[in-house]
Amino acid sequence: MIAAQVRIAIAIDGPASSGKGTVARFVAARLGYSYVDTGALYRGVGLLMLRAGLDPTDAGAATRVALGARFDFEWREGSLRLKIDGVDETGSIRGEDVGRAASAVAVHPGVRSALLQAQRDLAARGGVVMDGRDIGTVVLPNAQLKIYLDASLEERARRRHAEAPGVPLDAVRQQLEARDRQDSGRETAPLRLADDAEFVDTTGRSVEEVVQQVLALARDRGA
Ligand code: C5P
Repeated sequence: MIAAQVRIAIAIDGPASSGKGTVARFVAARLGYSYVDTGALYRGVGLLMLRAGLDPTDAGAATRVALGARFDFEWREGSLRLKIDGVDETGSIRGEDVGRAASAVAVHPGVRSALLQAQRDLAARGGVVMDGRDIGTVVLPNAQLKIYLDASLEERARRRHAEAPGVPLDAVRQQLEARDRQDSGRETAPLRLADDAEFVDTTGRSVEEVVQQVLALARDRGA
């Protein structure tokens, strides 16, 4: 008997530079699924706060900004673009300053609930790979496959440093540690391993190896 294929939801969580985005993109492409980078939404709110000269630790201001902005994802020439209020901001959200602001605004429950429905809507039709910090625990608690990707701090720092060699390795390591602390230590939707998630350590492994492991798990779940 041949089992019917279903278009499942795959949640991929993990700390910064654990390889989530790369693995999620490849897995989505192989399965013909859409990929949703939820970190881009928090980065978008962080970017708007910085541009407006607002303090990202100000919960009220950050919540107003998150509620007032319109976010749209679009695929163009093989890459995922983020539009905020109709303007393509993909190139503006990647910097470490925006990452820090994202992590600061992500602490506020008002910001998280403002972004929650949009994330659920993006996954509503299934056939999605969504990456973030709380996808398996909060956003898609019923996802058919939950992956928690991790790698040693040393390796994550090396990866990040290779992408942005301008910043000394030591400083990159400290930035990652600070972000891990903030993302895992916050009260609302902290980064943590969901009870029913598969823990995948990417330390010392190639992207292709990890992608194959996730694809095998996805096929086990009917994808
Ligand atoms: O994954 P990325 O580094 O782009 O995420 C930026 C920040 O957004 C994270 O450090 C985290 O604080 C926040 N975030 C979150 N929940 C998600 C995705 C990202 O809190 N689902």
